[in-house]
Amino acid sequence: MSRKEIRFDVKTSPGMVSVEEALSMVLSVVNELGCQSKPVLKCLGQVLAENIVAPFDIPPFDNSAMDGYAVRADDIVSATSETPALLRVIGEVSAGGLSQAQVKPGTAVRIMTGAPLPEGADTVVPFEYTNELSREVGSWIGEEIGIFASLSPGANVRRAGEDMRRGELVIQRGTLLRPAHIGVLASIGRRTVTVIRRPVVGILATGNELLAPGRALSRGKIYNSNSYSLASQVMECGGIPKLLGIALDETEQLSKAVRAGLECDLLITSGGVSVGDYDAVKRVLAAEGEISFWTVRMKPGKPLAFGIFRRRDGSVVPHLGLPGNPVSSMITFEVFARPAILKMMGATNLARPRIVAVMEDTLVNKDHRRIFARVMVNKQGGKYFAKLTGPQGSGILTSMVKANGLAVIPETAERVEPGDNVEVIMLAEDSI
Ligand code: AMP
Ligand code: MG
Repeated sequence: MSRKEIRFDVKTSPGMVSVEEALSMVLSVVNELGCQSKPVLKCLGQVLAENIVAPFDIPPFDNSAMDGYAVRADDIVSATSETPALLRVIGEVSAGGLSQAQVKPGTAVRIMTGAPLPEGADTVVPFEYTNELSREVGSWIGEEIGIFASLSPGANVRRAGEDMRRGELVIQRGTLLRPAHIGVLASIGRRTVTVIRRPVVGILATGNELLAPGRALSRGKIYNSNSYSLASQVMECGGIPKLLGIALDETEQLSKAVRAGLECDLLITSGGVSVGDYDAVKRVLAAEGEISFWTVRMKPGKPLAFGIFRRRDGSVVPHLGLPGNPVSSMITFEVFARPAILKMMGATNLARPRIVAVMEDTLVNKDHRRIFARVMVNKQGGKYFAKLTGPQGSGILTSMVKANGLAVIPETAERVEPGDNVEVIMLAEDSI
């Protein structure tokens, strides 16, 4: 092991490392980020960094669950459609209003959904159980209303505190905020909340052959697509991508570009890490930081670099050097970078949902690697079926477009035949 290599617990050379070994080393260097206070509406998908306690009862007051009449249950015990209870309407209250009326025996207040229950009333009779709908009057105040049904006390009343009680822990620190949590935060009057920060992820493409989209294509050149698919993957899992452009396979430029990435929380490079590669990338990465080059027992995506760079103040920036082939870079992101970003965001579940599907194609695993095969999963008769999306070459990016999952073929399986069960990592659950 050279001086520049990180001393990981697990042996990194010679030979290959497993996906699990590589992932656990990545995760061992990556830490949860600090907190920040942000407007509630900006926090969807972030992890809560404080316990949320209800500061008052929700709802704050007893209120009506229906449009109808606020009454005393005692007054309507024998009411039927043949023998209605007749009550004098002494007031009216809508949501947002307040009725000063006291509901005494023989009286009622016309009430709308969400309006505070007037004093003295304990029950709300919906309009459907009154003669309101069959009579035409201008104003109901002072009129008699006929009640057709006997309801038990508390019917159609929402009690103060029935949703949340003052002092109750309503959302726990560590919760991943979904739309309902954002609603709960607003319902207790919060404008800001403390969450774990999203990581800024620097993305640097390397390669003399790369051109930025928008420039004229010339012979021998290709457009840099990796920066775009990787940046989108970063956004999809909640990180903030920072595009650092394209660096030539040349020491000085690359060193500069890497240094520009040191403000980030995580640096991702693509290209320049394979065995036969022009070794400027490897040299620069090794000179600027502490780096290990791994051969991971997986397909696609065998070559991988992982290490750390140190900022001037001694703090550490983890670096993932992904392979340049467009599919390999996306899949190694999925397997290693996504969990790292989620861990930085404080998530407890770092894994995508997995399902078991019936494979519809044959796959041969010649060299005992873990294959991540691009598949389209369909559901038929309550069962999942997985079909390869076409040629599995690591440069065929369109095969990734057609895939909604990655079938995981274990290292130990020599082949998978149609009809065999396979585990599938779902990339787009909403597509089945
Ligand atoms: P490398 O890992 O640098 O040897 O690159 C492997 C293959 O991926 C080569 O065919 C590269 O041209 C291609 N490649 C590398 N980087 C990118 C990129 N950013 N966008 C598209 N293709 C790339
Ligand atoms: Mg290259």
